[in-house]
Amino acid sequence: MLKLAVIGKDVSKSDSPAIHEFILRRRFSVSCTYDKVSIPPEQFHARAEELFSRYDGFNVTIPFKGEILPYLSGLKGDAAAFGAVNTVLAGPRLGYNTDGYGFLLMLGNEGIEVKGKSVLVLGAGGAGRSCVKKLIGAGAEVFVCERDSARLAAVHGEFGGFTPLERVPERHFDLLLNCTGIGMHATEGMLPTLCYESGETDTAERLLKECGQAADLIYVPARSEFLRVAERYGKRTVNGASMLFYQAYMADCVYLSASPDAEEAARLWKEYQGERQ
Ligand code: NAP
Repeated sequence: MLKLAVIGKDVSKSDSPAIHEFILRRRFSVSCTYDKVSIPPEQFHARAEELFSRYDGFNVTIPFKGEILPYLSGLKGDAAAFGAVNTVLAGPRLGYNTDGYGFLLMLGNEGIEVKGKSVLVLGAGGAGRSCVKKLIGAGAEVFVCERDSARLAAVHGEFGGFTPLERVPERHFDLLLNCTGIGMHATEGMLPTLCYESGETDTAERLLKECGQAADLIYVPARSEFLRVAERYGKRTVNGASMLFYQAYMADCVYLSASPDAEEAARLWKEYQGERQ
């Protein structure tokens, strides 16, 4: 029996237990317990140690993806590149980041071709950075808009390969990707606000009207305002639900030292959706 958990500030509504239980049962024939552990940020350091003795592995979400680093003995792959961890193997205290892989599987399995396409990413926080790195690797022409100019400069300095934008041109982008988190929780029903090249500050609607397709990492609500507006303009849209599933699939592959497979992941995602209906 694998003992797993998700750790975050408020994970009370997380779908992670259902997703991991499904993948581990269906793909690996492994049973697990999967706890939701909400920790107030001021208590994180007092409670971090106990996670390693209580669990075989755990997933880490907002706002602890960086806070967990001092408790780890090593970082693997994207976790080392980003200094942000979403999956921890408790025994060897190793940190991984599967968000970018989940994002790539989402693009591939939704048939979104980004090679040679212009992609505007809104928000360069933890998830945004993972997506930007994967988009560059996949051959997209990447533009990144982030309202925190110091963070934008830091990310650009870290791996470059994209055009940093504090002011956004009103032009066509093949894909608009919302990584800001605006549209969920307290901002449900809202659109990200941007500073346009003209100097005007306005919602992302102007860009959504002109874009080819739109994707949002948000999965609750299933159709964020960002996606609703895009649909109103007849655009193809994708939400973050499959990315959530795929990053969990990759995390389970880490827990069980298994090799991931894109087709298998896509089949499991379809089966999971079928089971939830
Ligand atoms: P985060 O680290 O807080 O990053 C959000 C970033 O967007 C911050 O840098 C924020 O700047 C910036 N931002 C906010 N409003 C903006 C605007 N109007 N224009 C430009 N930049 C803006 O959060 P995260 O961990 O990256 O998560 C972002 C979203 O992705 C959340 O909705 C999360 O649920 C989702 N997510 C989904 C998956 C999935 O599997 N589907 C995985 C990971 C994350 P400030 O700091 O100034 O606010």
